[in-house]
Amino acid sequence: MSSDQAVRPSCGGSPILPPGATLHSLATFLHRSKGSRNTERSCLRYYGGASERMEPGNPFGQGAQHLAEAVYGGEPSGLELIRRHTLLGLFGPAMGEAWWGNRFRAPIVEGIATRKFASEIWLGKPLSWCPDCSREDIDQFGWAPWRVVHQVPFAHHCPSHGAALLAICAICQEPLDRGFHWRLPGDACRRCRGQSFSSGFLVDESSGYRRLLRVLAELDGVMASKGPVPAREVFPERNEISSWVMPRQNVSTLLSAEWGLANSESSISRLLGVREKPGFIRTALLRPELASVLAVLLLRSIRADGSD
Ligand SMILES: [Zn+2]
Ligand SMILES: [Zn+2]
Repeated sequence: MSSDQAVRPSCGGSPILPPGATLHSLATFLHRSKGSRNTERSCLRYYGGASERMEPGNPFGQGAQHLAEAVYGGEPSGLELIRRHTLLGLFGPAMGEAWWGNRFRAPIVEGIATRKFASEIWLGKPLSWCPDCSREDIDQFGWAPWRVVHQVPFAHHCPSHGAALLAICAICQEPLDRGFHWRLPGDACRRCRGQSFSSGFLVDESSGYRRLLRVLAELDGVMASKGPVPAREVFPERNEISSWVMPRQNVSTLLSAEWGLANSESSISRLLGVREKPGFIRTALLRPELASVLAVLLLRSIRADGSD
């Protein structure tokens, strides 16, 4: 990871937005550096809309074009910021070109609220961070942003360090930031000023979960390596997802064994604290364009196993 991949705002005194950091980290940094206390004014200034029209922490980059113009003079573009600094950018290269989520990129970049999209994918995990990543970020960049890969709803450990992600005050149980509290990793608790934090969600570290984290680490690397020049997104071929795993009837058995579960279709999402439709893994195999992100990454994790 070299600093020349980091986005440098054009206005003076602004931070470098490190590769893999969330877009919202930049808005947070700017909000704080101006000493602002008005959330709605900052949401309007940086995203062109009200906080109630956005998901907590703006994980998909709603209004990214507004931010691109307000902070960078339009270069990089809002779409490029989404590719490099949001969950949509992290997931995009893993999903098929026909993925239903792709059609939301254009409205999201322009700031149009897309509750339907968010409700399929977002379950309100508080903003989360890895203590090891934060230390490295402070050493390298002088501040610790939120990182996109830690906001993945079904990730509860850092894919790079394996550390449990922190989110909740260990003393009073208040999340450090539910989305628009303008906090950054390393800050004290808003309620009790406590400095020690714990994980918001406990998950058993089965070998299946560790494989899933490896896939996330890979995607994080892909996203962070995107240079300043917009590169054409490389998507899998339309039917590639279903060709990863053969024969199909073994997928469920493989996943169940890896995750130590009797039934992978009904149990994995519950174990990870996310909502999935019944049969979501089978859907990903038969109708890749309707696949959920978790299903595709689970199938990728099996494929990754074969290539280890
Ligand atoms: Zn980490
Ligand atoms: Zn507290």
